[in-house]
Amino acid sequence: MNAASPIDLHMHTTRSDGRLTPSELVRLVAAQGIGIAAITDHDSTEGLDEAFAEAARHPGLHLVPGIEISADHPLDQGDLHVLGYFLDYHDAAFQTQLRAFRDGRLDRAKLMVEKLGELGVPVEWERVKEIAADASVGRPHIAQAMVERGYIGNTREAFDGYLQDGGKAHISRPHLSLGESVKLIKSVGGVAVLAHPLYAKEYQELLPRLAGLGVAGMEVHYAEFNPVQRIGLARLADRHGLLPCGGSDYHALGLPGENLPGSAGPPAEVFHKLEDLAR
Ligand code: AMP
Ligand code: FE
Ligand code: FE
Ligand code: ZN
Repeated sequence: MNAASPIDLHMHTTRSDGRLTPSELVRLVAAQGIGIAAITDHDSTEGLDEAFAEAARHPGLHLVPGIEISADHPLDQGDLHVLGYFLDYHDAAFQTQLRAFRDGRLDRAKLMVEKLGELGVPVEWERVKEIAADASVGRPHIAQAMVERGYIGNTREAFDGYLQDGGKAHISRPHLSLGESVKLIKSVGGVAVLAHPLYAKEYQELLPRLAGLGVAGMEVHYAEFNPVQRIGLARLADRHGLLPCGGSDYHALGLPGENLPGSAGPPAEVFHKLEDLAR
């Protein structure tokens, strides 16, 4: 399952928690020989103009405008990530909503930083903002500040001890419901796909509801899922009328064993069905 795939529908840039700029990511993706790629930053499309400008220099690459939105779980089980593709992302109302998401992220990140201070592992809010720079701020930026202070060896340990859902320093923030998030994606001509379903709590109960909420697919060919998991998910996708999508979820963190662009993705016929649904 590790063979390079010519399609990758899940990647991040410095406009969220990835470490490559949109241009750098597009150049890497083109150099890897990937034919179809989607950039899916968390609650932001700010990297897409730059990415498309770079993609214009790589005629072999079809870049898809995407996003990964955090939404409330319909069964009240924390948050979910929903991917949107083929977005007419310059839409003003859409951008207003995305700015509201990012403002909520800032408030919540600040509260988590306060909590870390109370827990005796202080990081500077100014430093977290510097690390995030022009990104949609998220827990990985706080984790990086904790690593810099030497509290932990790597960002994963920050999640394990403090930042993961339910962790000592975790604070949740308000989201749109899943149905509202799907509507938002559709309002700009997009199609919605559930990201990494195995990370959603109660996913067996969740999946049968997705099609009814307007979700077109779910990730099956997800780099972090093993072959047995993918076979199970493919069966569930088929049963619940969902297209089996996927990608690497590349963040360029440089960690050992990180899944690289093109390490997973759907077959071409699935991509074309997704494209047809967006029309
Ligand atoms: P946030 O957007 O602030 O909710 O942070 C979520 C992001 O943190 C995800 O998109 C992942 O990139 C990363 N993440 C989530 N859980 C973990 C974890 N256990 N270890 C490392 N990174 C994680
Ligand atoms: Fe992320
Ligand atoms: Fe995600
Ligand atoms: Zn992602």
